[in-house]
Amino acid sequence: MSGISECLSRFNGHRYHVYNDWARREYGGRLQKVSIDAGFTCPNRDGLLGVGGCSFCSNEGFSPSYLREQRDINAQIDTGIEFMRRRYPRSMGFLAYFQSYSNTYDELENLKRIYEAALSHRHISGIVIGTRPDCLPEEILDYLAELSARMPVELEIGIESCTDEVLQECLRGHNFSCTQDAIRRAARRGLFITGHLLLGLPLETQESLVAGAKALARLPLDALKFHQLQIVRCTRLANQYRAAPGSVPLLDPESYLDAVIDVLEYLPPHVKIQRLGSEVPPSVLVSPDWGMRLHKFPAMLEARLQVRDTWQARLFENTTTEPRKPDRGRSKLLPAT
Ligand code: SF4
Repeated sequence: MSGISECLSRFNGHRYHVYNDWARREYGGRLQKVSIDAGFTCPNRDGLLGVGGCSFCSNEGFSPSYLREQRDINAQIDTGIEFMRRRYPRSMGFLAYFQSYSNTYDELENLKRIYEAALSHRHISGIVIGTRPDCLPEEILDYLAELSARMPVELEIGIESCTDEVLQECLRGHNFSCTQDAIRRAARRGLFITGHLLLGLPLETQESLVAGAKALARLPLDALKFHQLQIVRCTRLANQYRAAPGSVPLLDPESYLDAVIDVLEYLPPHVKIQRLGSEVPPSVLVSPDWGMRLHKFPAMLEARLQVRDTWQARLFENTTTEPRKPDRGRSKLLPAT
């Protein structure tokens, strides 16, 4: 995108494409995601690829506590909605968010049973499914495409890094070409795809991050979530950090925002930014606490973009993004009461 005026007019006064602005237009209001833990595992934990998980992974650190106390999906949704209604009283509806572990890592028939249990809840209008790129066989993508003809379906794919050495170092168990392949196969079916990127992993450099951003810009992604690396208890990274703190160079808030901007500058303007970071309870945090609340990140990012006099897509090369099917419209919203 050539100039700041075009950027501000296209992004509703922001310097990056805010997902919530898009969602309000697309869905006609705010749809809140209600987290569900359906008891899945992942191939990097159950022994198929590994048993210890990715070096940074602790689902305990990233899941709401009520999910650990309730196994019934409808009870989890009820509790989540009650919480969301108190926090966001103007929510227009709710999406079932299968967040913990790899939520497509099962037989298709089991997945259908689990997803449809959530979709049968009278307040649920659609579904968001988080998973690894190597857990997306064709039959599951076909089923998700069928679902997406009836309601909002967002597929959230854990990219984490676009650099194979970084993925190998964090014991991820797949490479970037696996991620590219999964995104392309999902996009061919018209699915809405969000990528999940973790900034600050060991061996990632500014150069590798920018090379990764250019590769992401060519992929048919719809949205991106950024997370800062936080070292949490009971992870391999926590052990490594305690034994040799220098082996895990950590970002501070300013260098993290700079890393986000280094990626944003190369992204196409249509990519919506869904998230700028995450918070874990201080009790599980091993790396230094930034002492910042998540809701402050957007204003900090806008300020940093202004200081650097830049914006999303400033360096995007327009001819490179692969074509994708158009997103579905709000007419597919399930009636939520
Ligand atoms: S981050 Fe995801 S893929 Fe990695 S171990 Fe945790 S649940 Fe499995």
